[in-house]
Amino acid sequence: MPRSLRKEAEAAIREVNWIPNWAINRILGMVEVRPDWCISRQRSWGVPITVFYCENCKEPKADQEIFNHVADLMESTEVDVWFTEPVEKLLPANVKCSHCGSAKFKKERDILDVWFDSGVSHAAVAEKRLWWPADLYLEGSDQHRGWFQTSLLTSVATRKKAPFKTVLTHGFVNDDAGKKMSKSKGNVTSPMDVMKVHGAEILRLWVVLEDYRNDVSFSKESIERVSESYRKIRNTIRFILANLYDFDPDKDRTPDTAFGDLDKWALSRSAKAFERIGKAFDLYEFHTVYHQLVNLCTVDLSSVYFDILKDRLYTAPKHSIERRASQTALWLIGDALIRAMAPIMSFTSEEAWSYLPGGKPRNESVFFVDFPVGEKGLKKYQDDNLENRFETIWQIRTVVLKSLEEARNVKKIGHPREAKVTLTMDNNSAEVLGSTKEKPSRLFLVSELEIKPGVEIIAEIEKSTGEKCARCWVFSKDVGKNKEHPDLCKRCQEAIK
Ligand SMILES: [Zn+2]
Ligand SMILES: [Zn+2]
Repeated sequence: MPRSLRKEAEAAIREVNWIPNWAINRILGMVEVRPDWCISRQRSWGVPITVFYCENCKEPKADQEIFNHVADLMESTEVDVWFTEPVEKLLPANVKCSHCGSAKFKKERDILDVWFDSGVSHAAVAEKRLWWPADLYLEGSDQHRGWFQTSLLTSVATRKKAPFKTVLTHGFVNDDAGKKMSKSKGNVTSPMDVMKVHGAEILRLWVVLEDYRNDVSFSKESIERVSESYRKIRNTIRFILANLYDFDPDKDRTPDTAFGDLDKWALSRSAKAFERIGKAFDLYEFHTVYHQLVNLCTVDLSSVYFDILKDRLYTAPKHSIERRASQTALWLIGDALIRAMAPIMSFTSEEAWSYLPGGKPRNESVFFVDFPVGEKGLKKYQDDNLENRFETIWQIRTVVLKSLEEARNVKKIGHPREAKVTLTMDNNSAEVLGSTKEKPSRLFLVSELEIKPGVEIIAEIEKSTGEKCARCWVFSKDVGKNKEHPDLCKRCQEAIK
């Protein structure tokens, strides 16, 4: 290889974003030591080398005009024309040998190396039909020796630049013991078979979870784990959609000032997850996308926000500002969540999008709307201060939930709603808990809560002395006091007015 092409190729390699980043050393090393590339092959058929030779003096005849003439001929007739037609039909009229003046030529019989064919696809496909340079070349790590390199060399030689901005390489999928899949060993799992059992969504989610930068092992357990995560994400979306059944964003959406602290917390957590998901997609760190999606759905939303919200959504007056505010938060989160998961869980997202209020008339498909980054990713709701305060509140909640569980185990109470909790805690924790406008007993889903000063957080559980409200199941001393609704608590009496 000419010294200058090798040097130019090395310079071009340094301009490209290589993922994973060790790949740059791999391809630099290969280009440095590679031998010359013989681009002709002796085969009976392939992409022809459209060069002619003078029959008289053997002088080659090869110039742009002749190349274009043959190329036009191929395009207007068929690709085989080089092999089926005689020389006279392939040459422009009146061509003479520039050396001896003869008009008799023969054609080159060698064909191009197939690696040359694929190596110039950046010109034939990207440049001619799409755009050049390509945003991304993506293949297995064997292509540092193959396609990535042949594309680079043809491009640097003819265009002085790499034909791609980013090159991503991935490992291979092995069996559950980390062994290469091969037909003779019988350890091959076909993606089609996985899709038949689990569907394409789950297979895609599995690919996203695995760290593609190295070889990955495929096992039944790993795909089942992913199925479980998929179900959790799907259930999160279902909860959101189910609780928006009577919500019309055009009429019912509340201003941001209506959000309770819990709504604000959920919006902040979601906004941060969407920001991380956007960044992870930009960096091709797909496993981060997976973990962010699963964590947001299972931990922050399902087991905390939704768990506490259920009471409000089911029992607060239908048109109350607190219920509408929570629905607004759910709608905002759902809207961004469906967009965020669309590249991976495409069918699920598209289906969910069609059920999201205000989703369908605005845009027919989730794939026609923007990805949730920046303001569309709820960025303005990010609130570190609030999240820090809730960090303390959730620590207290963990203690309460654990004590409730223990009280249930010894049959002191049945449902947590039967509980009266006496919470001992330090001043700092009490201050944080008091600083939120949310009612602590409702954050912990118990009927009564009393706070006492102390050193550490301890929750004592007793059975509530009130009666069970038939509507919200909270135990209250108000139940039985109203003649009209003797089975309801005060809050529920208000709610149904
Ligand atoms: Zn000649
Ligand atoms: Zn009630």
